[in-house]
Amino acid sequence: MAVLDAEANLTTVTLDERDERLPVLLDLLKGYDNDWVERRQDRFTDEELEAARLLIVSYDVNAEVYGGPRQGTTYDMSEACKRCGAGARQTSAMILDVEYLHRLEGRRAAMTFKDDLLVDEKLAGALAESGATGLSFRGVFAAFDRRGHIQLPWRQVCATHTLPPMSPRSTGVYPYKPCPCGRSSFTGKEEVPTRLAYRAADVADIRDVNVSWEWGGEVRFDGDVSDALFPCPWFLVTPKVWRIFQDAGVTGFDWNPIRVVDAS
Ligand SMILES: [Zn+2]
Repeated sequence: MAVLDAEANLTTVTLDERDERLPVLLDLLKGYDNDWVERRQDRFTDEELEAARLLIVSYDVNAEVYGGPRQGTTYDMSEACKRCGAGARQTSAMILDVEYLHRLEGRRAAMTFKDDLLVDEKLAGALAESGATGLSFRGVFAAFDRRGHIQLPWRQVCATHTLPPMSPRSTGVYPYKPCPCGRSSFTGKEEVPTRLAYRAADVADIRDVNVSWEWGGEVRFDGDVSDALFPCPWFLVTPKVWRIFQDAGVTGFDWNPIRVVDAS
């Protein structure tokens, strides 16, 4: 399947690794001047997702919105790492950059580029009524230069529970600029599928909505929160939450089961 995203000037081709067109395409790309990346990801059936202990939530990077410290969202840094900001605790509504608001149009759920989960009011209501555990809601605002902050008919879904550190048997997760706190900066390798592993004891006390102890992604932090680019944790939910999103017709998300391992 080829998807031309005019805005991102990007074409995505998704093929099964057993597809006989794949080696032909890779050969063609090797003689091609423009940049390209090969990314390997697992795909799961609905039955496999339904049977998972937890699902890692990820979102289409071409539909992400921008929000966070640089847009005016505030954070309590008292328990955060002074070097990378891991552990920053959000204390205000989520403030979004107005330039990307059009990406929310026609959608019922989205994520910021730092994996903050946003849902429309109706989906927030469905989540609240479902009795799902481990979540709280915050308001979502757009920051306009002159008119100030305007509230949007969206809610941020916040996790109240942090999982224990994951098992070292996780793959596709590497510290690329290790911070002394040990909590960031993890990233993936495009050619290795991300497979998070947790010990059985680590997932004995989960909620329906959780975040990982580890924080991944780009970091830029010199002590000034308003100019910071914080890392962010992985967002993990039970199949119950996935089902609510499915029933609401939400698209653009990938759901990736964790692996539960016996030891280490
Ligand atoms: Zn740190």
